[in-house]
Amino acid sequence: MLESFPERIPELTDLDLIIIGGGPAGLTAGLYAARANMKTVLLDSKDVGGEILNTNVIEDYPGFESVTGAELAKKMADHALKFGLKIETYKPVKGIRSEGDRKIVTLQDGTELSAYAVIVTVGGEPTKLGVVGETEYHGRGVSYCAVCDGAFFKGADLAVIGGGDSAFQEGLFLTRFANKLYVVHRRNEFRAQAILQDRLLGMEKVEPITPAEVKEIGGNGDVKWIDIERDGKIERVKVEGVFVFIGFKPVGRYLFREHIDHDKNGYLITDQYMRTSIPGVYAAGDTRAQLAKQITTAVGDATTAVLHAERYIEELKDLERAFPSEPKEVVAQTASKADLVVFAPDDIVLREGDPADRFYMVIKGEAEATHRGPDGSQVVISRFGPGDYFGEIGLLNDAPRRATVRAKTSLELMALDRETFAKLMKSSQATEDEVRRVAAERTQAATPR
Ligand code: NAP
Repeated sequence: MLESFPERIPELTDLDLIIIGGGPAGLTAGLYAARANMKTVLLDSKDVGGEILNTNVIEDYPGFESVTGAELAKKMADHALKFGLKIETYKPVKGIRSEGDRKIVTLQDGTELSAYAVIVTVGGEPTKLGVVGETEYHGRGVSYCAVCDGAFFKGADLAVIGGGDSAFQEGLFLTRFANKLYVVHRRNEFRAQAILQDRLLGMEKVEPITPAEVKEIGGNGDVKWIDIERDGKIERVKVEGVFVFIGFKPVGRYLFREHIDHDKNGYLITDQYMRTSIPGVYAAGDTRAQLAKQITTAVGDATTAVLHAERYIEELKDLERAFPSEPKEVVAQTASKADLVVFAPDDIVLREGDPADRFYMVIKGEAEATHRGPDGSQVVISRFGPGDYFGEIGLLNDAPRRATVRAKTSLELMALDRETFAKLMKSSQATEDEVRRVAAERTQAATPR
């Protein structure tokens, strides 16, 4: 699909962002990153498109009443390319590790790329039945993709295994070729959406076999039958193709040697911004723990991930400028814990006399600190612009705020909680000395003579 790409990986050692996986989530992240002018590369082990390439017709992506998976994948890729995304296909990733404030992505061929942030959108792989004959007949009648293999089975009797959306959607596709289609499911109730159930089970050539479990797949070089167990009895069903859709195994976590939080099924756990437990690593799409594995949710989550990654990188660079002696990995941890807070002009950020709970650094805009003078009037004692910090005095002295800080313009601040600030101070004596020096200077300047 993407013939125009260079064969060789160019110098890619100082990137902002690496996106791993070119399905809908990855391509959306790529589109947003390219539009934000982030230095980004998207890597895919195959051609871009991901799972939707294995999907015949998509009918639940808003704006597209009916579109083939291949067509939607091409539209998404073309869209991202138009805005300048660099896509590298057939570049499988072997591993990701943290090094200072960077993520190092190693490809199977040994090439190393580095970036401040990584978004993992690698999806997963189909779950296997684990029965005798499944591996032996894979590619000779056993398949996990109807769109890829269905056409090889014109006029044949086929079985789909599973009761979810995939089984039904792929089953519908297979009815184009099948003489007879069995839907073998371990329970009587199906999980698939009602509309898919009505369509598939309403067809004359379709016969559900439930509750039934596949016990063995057999044949004579090619698949000829499956043995199923129903009501405690083994029955042999003659089929030439077995299409297995019994779920999905996320693969994102296998890219990391260091620990990354995942649930009991291996899905990566993220917060609302798609941050994983590793600073600078985000996850979106089917490899992330979530309620719905849909294209719509994948693109939404990817948008959140890239917008947050952009802020994370900005905050990381601001922190590095402000605290040059800080170890780089501590800066990355600090940036990953930071909250972005916004204020309108004239809003009060913190008020004199209030307890001190956060440390702030200005990302965008201006703020002003005032102190109540002896006559009760407000005296301006400091002005803050991008890169300046405030709020340190109360935290260092465990004392109430000595000043009121107000937004002069629209204001974006990075906020660190007490614990994150304390860790930052503890990890470098030079940083603590410098912050204490600034605090002492400010305290002196605000003290009436
Ligand atoms: P799924 O929803 O998890 O369904 C898997 C099916 O396989 C279930 O019916 C399950 O049975 C059965 N199963 C699981 N393990 C089995 C085993 N060892 N032996 C026999 N049967 C087994 O998986 P999916 O259909 O691949 O869908 C994955 C996600 O993608 C879902 O969230 C789905 O909604 C989404 N999706 C959406 C669309 C769409 O058109 N919007 C299309 C495809 C997929 P039980 O029901 O008994 O657990």
